[in-house]
Amino acid sequence: MAEQFDLIVIGAGPGGYVAAIRAAQLGMRVACVEKQYLGGTCLNVGCIPSKAMLESSHHFYAAKHQFAKHGIIGDVKLDLTTMLKRKDEVVKGLTSGVGFLFKKNKVAHLNGHGKITGPGSVDVNGTRYEAKNILIATGSAPIPIPSLPFDGKMVLDSTGALAISELPKKLLIVGGGYIGVELGSVWNRLGSDVNIVEFMPYILPASDREMANELQKFLTKQGIKFQFNTGAQGAKVEGNQVRVALKSGETISELVVDKVIVAVGRKPYTENLGLDSIGITPSPKGFITVDDHFRTTVPSIYAIGDVIGRIMLAHNAEEEGIAAVELMAGKAGHVNYKACPAVVYTHPELGSVGLTEDQAREQFGEIKVGKFPLLANGRAKGMGETEGFIKVIGDKRTDRLLGVHALCAHASDVIAEATVAMEFAASCEDIARSFHAHPTLSEALKEAAMAVDGRQIHM
Ligand code: FAD
Repeated sequence: MAEQFDLIVIGAGPGGYVAAIRAAQLGMRVACVEKQYLGGTCLNVGCIPSKAMLESSHHFYAAKHQFAKHGIIGDVKLDLTTMLKRKDEVVKGLTSGVGFLFKKNKVAHLNGHGKITGPGSVDVNGTRYEAKNILIATGSAPIPIPSLPFDGKMVLDSTGALAISELPKKLLIVGGGYIGVELGSVWNRLGSDVNIVEFMPYILPASDREMANELQKFLTKQGIKFQFNTGAQGAKVEGNQVRVALKSGETISELVVDKVIVAVGRKPYTENLGLDSIGITPSPKGFITVDDHFRTTVPSIYAIGDVIGRIMLAHNAEEEGIAAVELMAGKAGHVNYKACPAVVYTHPELGSVGLTEDQAREQFGEIKVGKFPLLANGRAKGMGETEGFIKVIGDKRTDRLLGVHALCAHASDVIAEATVAMEFAASCEDIARSFHAHPTLSEALKEAAMAVDGRQIHM
């Protein structure tokens, strides 16, 4: 007889493994099927290794270009092998931590490819398992460009881009989304000549326009070259180089580079999952459609994370995973998508939560906007991190906080306070009147909140 569970989760990314642990906490007998690596994209080839490389490359860049201002002088050299090894060790530590958490919470790790063979039935490499409920958390994969297929050597996806073992002299990145600008930052800081081409007329299409345009200026100052309204049309490998055709309007040009990184987005991953046999039809873009309890059209089969495509970020997958299993257990699970933060880990970082200025104007009509530059923040001055500013957007009628955008060093931490404020439906005045320790970068957020009513102190 097939082994029985209350829940089988397919995929051990941040959505799947967190859901499995939460379900076990709620008393369910849980198994999590994973075919490749515990921790999924995020821990193995996404958030964590990219942030490890961003950190290391930032240290290298700062040591070369900024330490002298602090009175620290001397030559530094790049040891890329050690840098990549450190990144791999960070990944290994965290992924083995997931295995430990599974054991601690008595989640059975089923190693292999999971295929749904019916409601409540999953095949893992030829062995059948049964469960009351199934949670699909199979994530996403990089989107290839047909005329520029990944070859793992010269034309790379984001996974390959995090493991280049020899510094490329010249690098082309196709796509100016957050993955493109983060990977571009890594290799630019290490010394590559980085070109980013983007189909749109700007970077980071989903971000607040003013903030993204400002970030682009900083990245340009750091040496990254941008070409907008431009698409890559095809590539020819010539020895150790790639000749790429670029189309901008009617003009075709060529760029010869050592490596190409294609970062044009990610698509839902449902390969050989058995969806058609159980009557689940994905959307035209391949995402699994769910209701507000994360149920697919088959009531005992749920789905969360990148594969449903609501917000393709790790912390969103986690929240959806927790909410889905709490709802299965009859509890009040909920995800407040309006308060989901997003961070671009460039330097300075761009952290955002809530509406952009354009969205706020469109949805609320009259809004008020407060801005405060880091140049006028004492801590930023002390750190030598005076680039950027913070923007607070409020409803003019009610003072309700509608959005916060922070372009500054450590924006990923600064935005946490704004996220809690959004979750609690705070007013701009709530932030403006709250204590903020001095000296901190978060004081710039307080001042921006004061600035919505023109009462900032230090500007
Ligand atoms: P995934 O993490 O993709 O996990 C899915 C898992 O399912 C995988 O392990 C896969 O092997 C497994 N699987 C698939 N099919 C099957 C099957 N049939 N049987 C068994 N196992 C299966 N997000 C952030 O929030 N912050 C960041 O800084 C960030 N940086 C990123 C940087 C890069 C370079 C990339 C590529 C992504 C980044 N992301 C970031 C996005 C983040 O990684 C994803 O949003 C997140 O991993 C989605 O989680 P998930 O659980 O839905 O899926």
